[in-house]
Amino acid sequence: MCGIICYCGHKQVVPILIEGLKRLEYRGYDSAGFAVVDNKEAGAGPQSMNGGETNSPQLKNLRKKTRISPDSGKKNKIVKTQGRVGRLEKKKIGLEIDATFGIAHTRWATHGKPSEINAHPQGDCSGKIAVVHNGIIENYQELKKELQEKGHKFKSDTDTEVIPHLIEEYFDGDLEVAVLKAVERLHGTFGIAVIHADVEHQIIIVKRGSPIIIGVGKDEYYAASDSNALAPFTNRMIYLSDDEMAVLNTSGYYIKNLRNELLEKQIEILDADEYRVDKKGFEHYMLKEIFEQPESVKNAFRGRLIENEGVSKLGGLEPVIDRLKNIKKLIIVSCGTSYYAGLLGRYIFENLTELDVETALASEFRYRRLKLDENVAVLAISQSGETADTLAAVKEAKRKGALLLGIVNSVGTGIAQITDAGVYNHAGPEIGVASTKIYTSQLVIQTLIALMIGRYQHISFIEGSEIINAITKLPEQIEEILANSKEIEEIALKYSRYRDFLYIGRLYNYPTAMEGALKLKEISYIHAEGYPAGEMKHGPISLIDEDFPTVAIAPDDLALDKMISNMQEIKARNGKILSITNVTAHKVLDISDDVIYVPGTLPILQPILNIVPLQLFAYYIANERGCDIDKPRNLAKSVTVE
Ligand code: GLU
Repeated sequence: MCGIICYCGHKQVVPILIEGLKRLEYRGYDSAGFAVVDNKEAGAGPQSMNGGETNSPQLKNLRKKTRISPDSGKKNKIVKTQGRVGRLEKKKIGLEIDATFGIAHTRWATHGKPSEINAHPQGDCSGKIAVVHNGIIENYQELKKELQEKGHKFKSDTDTEVIPHLIEEYFDGDLEVAVLKAVERLHGTFGIAVIHADVEHQIIIVKRGSPIIIGVGKDEYYAASDSNALAPFTNRMIYLSDDEMAVLNTSGYYIKNLRNELLEKQIEILDADEYRVDKKGFEHYMLKEIFEQPESVKNAFRGRLIENEGVSKLGGLEPVIDRLKNIKKLIIVSCGTSYYAGLLGRYIFENLTELDVETALASEFRYRRLKLDENVAVLAISQSGETADTLAAVKEAKRKGALLLGIVNSVGTGIAQITDAGVYNHAGPEIGVASTKIYTSQLVIQTLIALMIGRYQHISFIEGSEIINAITKLPEQIEEILANSKEIEEIALKYSRYRDFLYIGRLYNYPTAMEGALKLKEISYIHAEGYPAGEMKHGPISLIDEDFPTVAIAPDDLALDKMISNMQEIKARNGKILSITNVTAHKVLDISDDVIYVPGTLPILQPILNIVPLQLFAYYIANERGCDIDKPRNLAKSVTVE
């Protein structure tokens, strides 16, 4: 999820790594570090390990195995810090490192809180193997147990640390073979880079699900998680695909698949403009994050569904499972977009469990005289884990003895620490101030929690299986919507000059209407009201005329006929209607001026799909109006004040 930069050549490596790390800072991270092999250490000095073959791109070179110095006595020098790269830079002053290859990382914690020990590189027992890793190793617990039983000593709480220990376990002189064997055991997503102190000038890179690019220089090679980090050094890039491995050293590189077959890959020359890949080529972080939703939704349920039991499994809730089974009431507390996620959460929990459910605004929670005791669970939802209002609400609930649960994206943060148990989103950093991918991730996770509880109650195996089946299809369905973004943009442009909007929905899509309207006002500064459609006639309908369009979220569910009646009321007053729907029948089309179609899923999951075109709609309108989309005026990403 965060950043990797590696170098192998003849120059001093540390300044290159630091510069690369600085160029990765935009991604958001919590700690940083690097590992190098110091030429001054015991053992021989730097040597060409490949019989001095010259570098001619790819396959011709490097077929001889890299020679290892049988225990050179060397160890990796690992320098790490919690916090900024600037702190790492200060830490290396005075160390007088003389090294010409190494790996570095900015970490965005997923497993284990942000700390120096948990920062990468992570090492093995011998101090010779160092690994940096982006992504998540899903089966790390079982691997860790197995390795501990074999005597491996772990220092960190990360999932990553199993990788160097596994490589150590398999290493018998050939690093490449050891890495291949280790990777075969890993489940999950990773981009990794590995060095071994006895295998001089060799870096092994493997990619599965997390981007890695190789930078080709003259007798020097780089690897990074995005080409932005490589921009000052080279514009010749090779994009690794999933399940590919690159072996770099000073005299060349080669690329293989994990079946150990050599591959010929194209070097691509990037022009300066393409270095704006910090946003992966997207104009704004918000747009990039909207497009990341197939992945972030998958990360929310990956490894958390047991298909043959029709149930979800959430490791983070296991310590409190017995208490959770006896809970009578659930109060979901949150703010802003997370509040709307909670509002929908209420419908999800009511539908799938027997709990009495309430949604509360965190900023109002402490003023209420709520009965909070051991029969009540309070579920706090916060992207940053630091939202001051939510933190205050959680503290209040703690004082009164409720069971505290959290759904948090940033690992180890305040809310994650204070709650009794919780679930991480694993959605990666969200930089755009207007939340998009975290919202959909929060909806998926609430569904997983509700399914887990519901399966102890009235939800049958068949119903559980249907839900699981529908959840696993969501990433593909989101892709389908995103593939339609051009059409959504055209519709957005038609609506970009209006000054007011009404968003309406019923049932599960009342929260979608609220969140859709919030997106538009946050980034385009247009007045937009989200409203439960049935309430419209009690007030807002007085605003409707030909200059006040309505966005109607009208999927095929129990509320559709009532939704259509409300839309008719708008039409009767000359209001324009843009419908978001999975219904192709005339009853919706005939009263809509414009329609954005979304694929259909179970009604409780439909909002996860319905919000995606609304995010894009808000984005394209704001872009057309020239707004500062990633940093809208007056707003901050994590709201740490009450
Ligand atoms: N899962 C790893 C950790 O928590 C890597 C996180 C990242 O991608 O930065 O240490």
